[in-house]
Amino acid sequence: MTPQRMTSQRLKILEYLRSVKTHPTAEMVYAAVKKDLPTISLATVYRNLNLLAEQGKILKLEIGGEFRFDGDMCSHVHAVCTKCGKLEDLMEPKIARYAMKNFSMKGFTPKCVHIIFKGTCTRCR
Ligand SMILES: [Zn+2]
Ligand SMILES: [Zn+2]
Repeated sequence: MTPQRMTSQRLKILEYLRSVKTHPTAEMVYAAVKKDLPTISLATVYRNLNLLAEQGKILKLEIGGEFRFDGDMCSHVHAVCTKCGKLEDLMEPKIARYAMKNFSMKGFTPKCVHIIFKGTCTRCR
């Protein structure tokens, strides 16, 4: 496989994801980048999102049967409501740091950690 250069479309998608904290779906990303890239199609957005996730540049999360994307990659702690699917970043770097410090697996060097807590949000409790 030849290394691909970042297309301007892909760059735009990545920039958008890094600028928001909403964990958008592909459709939401499409609606947002379409303003700057009127010719882009939903299929292109999907393809680029999957590519970025494969390259480890973004997170692809499956929450309640749909895919959500996140431009914030490292040492991430998420809280997910299993009832309504609400997804939030938890600002608890201690947990991620603790996990990194105590991680041990032969032949594996972790670079970052992604933790998901599942439960119910205040509205669904
Ligand atoms: Zn909820
Ligand atoms: Zn996140």
